[in-house]
Amino acid sequence: MPVTAFQDNKDFSNPDFPYISTISQKDHKSGYSEYNPYANALAQFDRAVSHLNLKRGVIDMLRCTKRELSVNFPVMMDNGDTRIFRGYRVHHSVVKGPTKGGIRYSPAVSLDEIRALAMWMTWKCALMNLPFGGAKGGVIVNPKELSQRELERLTRRYATEISIMMGPESDIPAPDVGTNPQIMAWIMDTYSMHRGFSIPAVVTGKPLEIGGSLGRTEATGRGVAFCVAEALKLRGIDPRGATVAVQGFGNVGSVACRLVNEMGMKVIGVTCSKGGMYRSDGLDIDSVSAHFASGGCLTSLTGTDFISNEELLTLDCDVLIAAAVENQITTSNVNEVRARIIAEGANGPITAEADETLNDKEVFIIPDILCNAGGVIVSYLEWVQDLQSFFWPVDEINLKLQYLMRQAFDSVLDCSSQYRVAMREAAQILAIQRISEAIVLRGIYP
Ligand code: NAD
Repeated sequence: MPVTAFQDNKDFSNPDFPYISTISQKDHKSGYSEYNPYANALAQFDRAVSHLNLKRGVIDMLRCTKRELSVNFPVMMDNGDTRIFRGYRVHHSVVKGPTKGGIRYSPAVSLDEIRALAMWMTWKCALMNLPFGGAKGGVIVNPKELSQRELERLTRRYATEISIMMGPESDIPAPDVGTNPQIMAWIMDTYSMHRGFSIPAVVTGKPLEIGGSLGRTEATGRGVAFCVAEALKLRGIDPRGATVAVQGFGNVGSVACRLVNEMGMKVIGVTCSKGGMYRSDGLDIDSVSAHFASGGCLTSLTGTDFISNEELLTLDCDVLIAAAVENQITTSNVNEVRARIIAEGANGPITAEADETLNDKEVFIIPDILCNAGGVIVSYLEWVQDLQSFFWPVDEINLKLQYLMRQAFDSVLDCSSQYRVAMREAAQILAIQRISEAIVLRGIYP
C-alpha cells in the first residue's frame, strides 16, 4: 500500500487550532451557539463525519476555511460624506476546483455567517458533482437604504477590494440575499476594466445581455419545487391539494411558490420579512405576486388574512418551504411546527438542535445543500457557457438541471437508507466522502 500524507492519524492534526475548538467545543453548549450559523454548520459536519472513517488530518482540513479576507472600505455617499463599510470573502475549500458562492448585502452579515455559508457551498457543490469548492462573500449594509448610485459605488469598490480572491479560474461569485443581476453586472464590469478586456465568466447570475444563462433566475426555485414533488411522492401525499406554506417571497420563494402551485398544490400562506398573507382555501399566486411586486407586505390582500412569520412557520400544512434566511426554526418554536415536510430553500433555516427534534418527530426535511442547489447548478452551466462562448436554449438548461437534481436526490435517499440517517446527514456524508477522497488523492503539498 502506498504511503499517503494522511496514513498516520496524528498527521496534520492540531487540537489547539483556535477557532475550531472555540466554536465547536465551547460555544456549542451555550445558548448563543444555536444562533451562530458557523456553530450550526460545524455541529452538522461533526455529526456527518462521525459515520466516516476519515483521518484526523482530513477532518481538520475540512473543518476550517481555506482563506478569509475582511475589508473595510470607503464609499462616497450622494451627499458628499464618506462612509466606511465592512465586507468579507471566504473560501472554504479549493480541493475540487475554483470556489463558488454568492455575495450577500445585509445588516446581519457577520464573518461567522459567511464562514458557514462558504462551508455549506463546498458540500453543495460536491453533492451535485460540480467541479467547485465553496465560498461566500458579504457586506454589512442595508441595500434598501442606498441610492442606485451609492449601491453601484459600494459594489465596484467591494469588487476591487476582493479582486485578489476572485477570477474565472479561482473564485466565481453569484447573487444572494440583497444582491441581484445588476450588482453582478457591476462586479463583472469592474473586474473586466481592471484586466482590460471582458471576462463574463468571473460572476454568474448576470443579466442575459452580458453572458447570463437562460433559466438562472428561476433555477433555485425550480430545484426546490422538484424536491418538494419527490418528497410528497415518498410520503404518499397527492400533490393535488397538498397544502404549502412559504416563508420568504424573494427570488427562491416566489418561483417555488408558483411552480408548486402549477403542480396542483394549494399555497395557503406566504410571508416576507414583515409578515404576509393567509387563506385556508389557497391563495391566488398571480395576485400575491402582483401584491408583493407593488411593495405590499403588511397591508393585507383582499380575501386574505394577515399572517406573521412566527404564525406561518407553525401552520398545519403538508409542506413548509423555508426560503428566507438562517435560524428560523429553533428550539423556541420547533415544538409548534406542524408541517409534514420541510423544504430548505434558504441556507440553514433550521438550527442543529431543532433539526434533532424534527427528526424525532419524523418530519421529512429536504436539506438546504440538496434542496436549493438548483441555483449553483445553473450557475455552473452559466460559467461553462461563458468559458466556451456558446449558449444553450432554456429547455436544455432545465433538462440538465433536472438530471443533476434527480441524481443527487436519489443518491442522498440511498445514502440515508444505507446509514439509517436523515436526509441532511446523508447529504453531508456523501459530500464529505467525495471531498475527502479528492484530498487524499491530491496529497499534501509540498
Ligand atoms: P431574496 O432577497 O430575493 O428574498 C429573501 C426573502 O426573504 C424576501 O421576501 C425577504 O423579505 C424575506 N426575509 C428576509 N429576512 C427575513 C426574515 N428575517 N424573516 C422572514 N422573511 C425574511 O433572497 P433569495 O435569493 O430568495 O434567497 C433566499 C434564501 O435562499 C437565502 O438563504 C439564500 O442564501 C438562499 N439561496 C438563494 C439562492 C438563489 O439562487 N437566489 C440559491 C441558493 C440558496
